[in-house]
Amino acid sequence: MKLDVDVLRYLSKDDFRVLTAVELGMRNHEIVPTELIDRIARLKHGGTYKVLKNLLKHKLLHHDSSKYDGFRLTYLGYDFLAIKAMVNKGVFVAVGRQIGVGKESDIFEVAREDGTVLAMKLHRLGRTSFRAVKSKRDYLRHRSSYNWLYLSRLAALKEFAFMKALENHGFPVPNAVEHNRHCVIMSLVQGYPLVQVKQLENPEVVFETIIGLVVRLAERGLIHCDFNEFNIMIEDDEKITMIDFPQMVSVSHRNAQMYFDRDVECIFKFFRKRFNLSFEESLDDIDGSDEGKDEAGKPCFSAIERSAGFLDRELAASGFTRKEEEDIQRFIEGRAESDTNSDSEDVDLVEDENEASTIDGNSSDLLEQNEGCENQGKVESCEARESSGSEKE
Ligand code: ADP
Ligand code: MG
Repeated sequence: MKLDVDVLRYLSKDDFRVLTAVELGMRNHEIVPTELIDRIARLKHGGTYKVLKNLLKHKLLHHDSSKYDGFRLTYLGYDFLAIKAMVNKGVFVAVGRQIGVGKESDIFEVAREDGTVLAMKLHRLGRTSFRAVKSKRDYLRHRSSYNWLYLSRLAALKEFAFMKALENHGFPVPNAVEHNRHCVIMSLVQGYPLVQVKQLENPEVVFETIIGLVVRLAERGLIHCDFNEFNIMIEDDEKITMIDFPQMVSVSHRNAQMYFDRDVECIFKFFRKRFNLSFEESLDDIDGSDEGKDEAGKPCFSAIERSAGFLDRELAASGFTRKEEEDIQRFIEGRAESDTNSDSEDVDLVEDENEASTIDGNSSDLLEQNEGCENQGKVESCEARESSGSEKE
């Protein structure tokens, strides 16, 4: 996806006011009625309509008149709101090249004022499809709370909270710098995903380190749930960093054993195929013991001794609520189920007219309460910075 941050520099205060008004409206509407946007934005002399046209031109909004005249944010529109809020906060000053495309994320480099380069992950939960919700009537009834905006924001919130907690407990993860909406800023890992690596100096050591991480995580009460060669970064000195945390679960999850075994199996399979490792030997060579392992040398979930309360304690402090955890988990698990169910189809998430709207734009100035809309932040692309050779306004 193209993220043309140059556009960001030309957007006015009113543009952001209207963009923010659409975001607020989307708390209760998949498509926000134009007239509601106007009421929230409160621009003088019908200014909202002109601004909407401009935002539409830059693909920050999508126009929909199938049921009534209205707009919704595009990913790009949501990206701009998050980027602007973080630029205003001084988190970074420039957005650079795209360095990763995940299943449900886009990763870019961003630069701080002092030139430090960080990674920006923009979550796109539900990008592939919303088919997961098709067979679940209760999802559909409450589907306005399952839109991509909410889910992507939850994914970012969860990822940030878990990354911080893991970092505090000495796990090799990127440093969690900041989050806003669906966006997480973290330190840039100077390496490659393991999947791109064809040769290792010490495959046994790397393998042991990685399996050791799965076990240590479980001891601290966590399972990664997507622990594979795509989510393990490795540097030239073969240092490991794990990434990608929105789907992590507690060891008390009802499917914990299955998730744990799956993570372990992925690593075994990859090292067997890519580096020809034969595990019984390598395990004996390295630590000389088979304790807590099955006959194939794999760690047993049931043999892991847990230190209680880690997950709950850390996450209660992070502001990531139980309800939010349930919402995102239900989506992720529902999606996994639907992936194995070939007759599921995509669902159109256009909102029912009878769904209640609690935002009417009348009670108070909603925009004044919404952070980031009044300050005029500046952002520039790395290219612009490099070519000008100086700080730009
Ligand atoms: P997804 O959830 O979409 O799989 P990931 O977090 O796994 O997203 O990131 C996708 C890709 O982006 C990774 O495989 C990696 O190449 C790159 N990436 C992600 N985070 C970082 C980081 N902190 N530093 C460097 N590259 C990263
Ligand atoms: Mg990934």
